[in-house]
Amino acid sequence: MRIVRFKTGGDTSWGLLQGDLVTPLAGNPVHGGITPAGPAVTLSALELLAPVEPSKIVCVGRNYRSHVGEMGWEAELDPVLFLKPPSAVIATGDHIQLPAESSLVEPEPELAVVIGKRARNVSPSEALDHVFGFVLANDVSARDLMVADGQWSRAKGFDTFCPVGPWIQTELDLGRARLRMAVDDEPVTDEAIGAMRLDIAEIIALASSVFTLEPGDILLTGSPAGRVPLTEGSVVRIWMDDLGVLENVVAGEDGRRLAVA
Ligand code: MG
Repeated sequence: MRIVRFKTGGDTSWGLLQGDLVTPLAGNPVHGGITPAGPAVTLSALELLAPVEPSKIVCVGRNYRSHVGEMGWEAELDPVLFLKPPSAVIATGDHIQLPAESSLVEPEPELAVVIGKRARNVSPSEALDHVFGFVLANDVSARDLMVADGQWSRAKGFDTFCPVGPWIQTELDLGRARLRMAVDDEPVTDEAIGAMRLDIAEIIALASSVFTLEPGDILLTGSPAGRVPLTEGSVVRIWMDDLGVLENVVAGEDGRRLAVA
């Protein structure tokens, strides 16, 4: 199944996406299941919202060796957990805003896991039972602030630094999946998610040993190689088979909204 969230009048609704039709759902399907609640509408007529409302966003850094290498980090450093605030989430089509404090902002294409069932101290063998689905995300990062601060809360936590979407896919062939990104139509990233150092079950187990993972929380599973600085007007496209395309245009420091072609 594909799950979207969209604006409807002054309100928001969740929906089941089938082809190019969206059937509105009663409530949040992560909590309440799939209950149709009205006639289907055409996807193109809707303004999509990020299909997540997490209480927390748990991320894994250094989870692909290709990215560890391009960052110049020591190869023996283990993957690391960190958090992004829910206030950083934006939808596909929204603008990433460059903060005045940074002069080097880069995108990081990532596969995100949406938790469907509370998880605390689960083992890797139990972990996938706690997954609701999968969605694309962008762990936007201010590289200069990562270095200046010595930790990543500010560098990765600015408003608009966590695009998520366009939909949640509840089943995914993890064995075949490749993560791809282009910026201004130039290919930047193309890597199999099988190259992860910690796989998805291990990430859930590790995160649940620290945080109680609640339904709706998301885990960003790390970025492969592919570095490119973002400038005003940059168009970032991240895609994976069955997960659609997450596309965001970069706005300048003043936050003015750019026209999307
Ligand atoms: Mg990342």
